Amino acid sequence: MKMAIISSQIKISCASLAGFPSMLRSPGHAPQPIVSRHVAVIGAGAAGLVTARELRREGHSVVVFERGDQVGGTWVYTQNVESDPIGVEPTRTRVHSSLYDSLRTNIPREAMGFRDYPFVPKDDPDRDPRRFPGHREVLMYLQDFTREFRIDELVRFETEVVRVRLAEGEEKWKIKSKQRSMGLELELELDEIFDAVVVCNGHFTQPRVAYIPGINDWPGKQMHSHNYRDPEPFRDQVVVLIGNSVSAFDISWELAGVAKEVHIAARTVINGTFGKQPAYDNMWLHPMIKDVCEDGSVNFLDGSIVIANIILHCTGYEYHFPFLETNGIVTVDDNRVGPLYNHIFPPALAPRLSFVGLLWKAIPFPMFELQSKWIGGVLSNRFKLPSQEEMMEDVEAFYSSLETFGTPKRYTHCLGDNLVEYNNWLASQCGCPAFEDWRMQMFLVTIKSKLAHLESYRDEWEAQHLVLQAYEDFIKHTSEQVS
Ligand code: FAD
Repeated sequence: MKMAIISSQIKISCASLAGFPSMLRSPGHAPQPIVSRHVAVIGAGAAGLVTARELRREGHSVVVFERGDQVGGTWVYTQNVESDPIGVEPTRTRVHSSLYDSLRTNIPREAMGFRDYPFVPKDDPDRDPRRFPGHREVLMYLQDFTREFRIDELVRFETEVVRVRLAEGEEKWKIKSKQRSMGLELELELDEIFDAVVVCNGHFTQPRVAYIPGINDWPGKQMHSHNYRDPEPFRDQVVVLIGNSVSAFDISWELAGVAKEVHIAARTVINGTFGKQPAYDNMWLHPMIKDVCEDGSVNFLDGSIVIANIILHCTGYEYHFPFLETNGIVTVDDNRVGPLYNHIFPPALAPRLSFVGLLWKAIPFPMFELQSKWIGGVLSNRFKLPSQEEMMEDVEAFYSSLETFGTPKRYTHCLGDNLVEYNNWLASQCGCPAFEDWRMQMFLVTIKSKLAHLESYRDEWEAQHLVLQAYEDFIKHTSEQVS
């Protein structure tokens, strides 16, 4: 089955178009002695796990704070949903993961995995060997990684960081955490001092919701995709889905199987046209919603109208650091976390505060690996950062190039076309081999194939030569490690 592809993926003028000016700057090498620091890592998802590994390898002492009871972050699927389905009520019960039951990866496993720990199929009937496996396989891979490198011994589970603030003449951080005690309601509160903090708390948990004129009087239900698990609650309903991300498409096909009608509201159409989708009996594509009314109608910008039961917001997420107190040095403004030197270090607090994994339209795991290697080396003095003023100039130059290209603030952390350049810059800072060409090619082949066969791209893979190159690399890497 085919449908029109609506995506801003190609049209969005990402941060990438504006470039990363600092990447061309040579770091120089530090004359200072190598030091070991006491570092707090917030979160034990993919970013926190690999950060813990890299920091320990570099000789730092590491504590990973994880509010959940296991590693994996996003990849810990749960049927539970939040008490407010749209995710705006501040006192709602919270759920971290945004995964839906049927989710499969949107990056081939060979390209998705850490460079130093390939995500290859396991010879085990309980595992999912597919090139684009289901979410459980990714969780199991992260569990394997954790076991292999004994990361769990660094993690304090069920321990939420509630406050991070400057301490001791602003040279250190004071962290307040709350630990649930053995499943009891009892909470243990602890204040501790750390030399440095690496924030790895993920950014697919705090829903962003579209503003719709008239919504307060509209009688239907609303939900954010953060709380979507399976299509059953939408059976026989007329659904309006807002958004055009990969998840939005996955969800819309799934809904079409059970819902009475599915109406997708999107900003752009790439392949195909607005209107009824030829491969479906019950799916329509519309421009954005103009407003909604008390009689249940949803009015689109092209004048089309539907009476709907539910609006599903597949409209993305916001960066959210409720625990972080930096006296206004780091802010989140229209989804720009800043100022950050290369999306990692706030110049005024570097290297004692850093962020891993803020960039999107990326290949996350290997990027986390390089970012955390760099952080580890900077913290130990093996790598040198430019001066605070130079970093700030760099950030400002980056922001003004975004402005020149008309890139909205909220795309500041969209890596897009600069994926290779950024990763190669990190690799060069760390003295690592450049980002593998096969990895990037696999990523690009996937994007192309996704645009052509949105519903079946995960089960069709023709670029076998790239898989062979990947495996040659994995074998070479393993034999280098053994010898
Ligand atoms: P998370 O995995 O979100 O982990 C953050 C951790 O921090 C959590 O365990 C959380 O409990 C913990 N935490 C948060 N706040 C606190 C606190 N205050 N105190 C203590 N602990 C805290 N990526 C891919 O590579 N391939 C894909 O196919 C893919 N598909 C995706 C599909 C969906 C629907 C979503 C939402 C994301 C997808 N991603 C995919 C991106 C995915 O999020 C990243 O790959 C990666 O898993 C993010 O890791 P992370 O460690 O940054 O964040």
